[in-house]
Amino acid sequence: MRIECPYCGPRGAEEFVYTQDAERARPTDGGASPTEDWAAYVYLRDNLPGARREYWYHQGGCRAWLKVTRDVSTHEILKVELP
Ligand SMILES: [Zn+2]
Repeated sequence: MRIECPYCGPRGAEEFVYTQDAERARPTDGGASPTEDWAAYVYLRDNLPGARREYWYHQGGCRAWLKVTRDVSTHEILKVELP
């Protein structure tokens, strides 16, 4: 799998680190949300097939954070953008 970094160009996936799902909404009330809301945010995943948006970090290159749209069934990279 290759990821097209906006700064470095196409690079092997081994230079990048997957960090988190970019589609999940973090509770934004400064920690006042019920524990159940935080537990759902941290632990519960739908694991849906198809195109998903994810945050990746270019650890072996420019150290940029990227928002990558990837088909999680085929691992095809569909889009790479800066967050
Ligand atoms: Zn880069």
